[in-house]
Amino acid sequence: MEIIFMGTGTSQGVPLIAHPNPGLDLGNPKNWRTRASIHVVIDESHVQVDAGPDFRQQCWQNNIPAVDTFILTHGHADHVVGMDDLRRYCDLRAGSAIPVYSTEEGLGRVRQIYPYALHDRPISSGYVAFSLHDMPAVMTFAKGSEIRTTLLPHGRVETLGLVFWDKHSGKKFVYYSDCNDVPKEAMALAMDADVAVLDGLRPQPHPTHMSVEKAIEISRQMRARETFITHTTWQLDYDTWTPILAKDNVKMAYDGLRLVL
Ligand SMILES: [Zn+2]
Ligand SMILES: [Zn+2]
Repeated sequence: MEIIFMGTGTSQGVPLIAHPNPGLDLGNPKNWRTRASIHVVIDESHVQVDAGPDFRQQCWQNNIPAVDTFILTHGHADHVVGMDDLRRYCDLRAGSAIPVYSTEEGLGRVRQIYPYALHDRPISSGYVAFSLHDMPAVMTFAKGSEIRTTLLPHGRVETLGLVFWDKHSGKKFVYYSDCNDVPKEAMALAMDADVAVLDGLRPQPHPTHMSVEKAIEISRQMRARETFITHTTWQLDYDTWTPILAKDNVKMAYDGLRLVL
């Protein structure tokens, strides 16, 4: 499978607007982080996870040719408000609706924001259409690869935690963004991952996200071979934090990073 980090920043993006962003080197492109999202190609299928306000630009930057399946981890604005731009991928599917998978909360938010898109086909060419589905515990792809799903606590909502398994390579990839903890069941599912991507918002604790320290602790428990933190704020300058995180075998994700597993 191939993983493309479309966006790795927190809900407001990095740098923060109308703010001096002290300590953040704006000359480093890795400190320009758009809203968190990944694109995964698995069994030649294009899976898009979340679409925030930067989605269109992210697709252009990363040269995304198709979206076959869309997974919305939860209904927060920084993950859902870019979905109208899936319209282009609808056209490329000859106008068939894009299958959208989420939690009850996530699907409810899609219904509220995009009532015009809830059709089998777009109302006309250039419009978007979604077919809504509950995220199954296991989603299976053409050649037997899988995504397993679990729920993660994220303040008043729950987020879909996703564990990708590529049958061909045998590699396991964990995407646990937007969570303030990793419960037992989610930990069991993610154990011994080849790569784990964890919410690591900022150095200080936060009620609905994991801090850097918490992400390091979770990474250790998970025994992930390689861990990246995502959904990070302006407080985490890439070159300042890279050596600090390296002591615990953790890295900062950045926009445009690609992994092949
Ligand atoms: Zn978020
Ligand atoms: Zn969120």
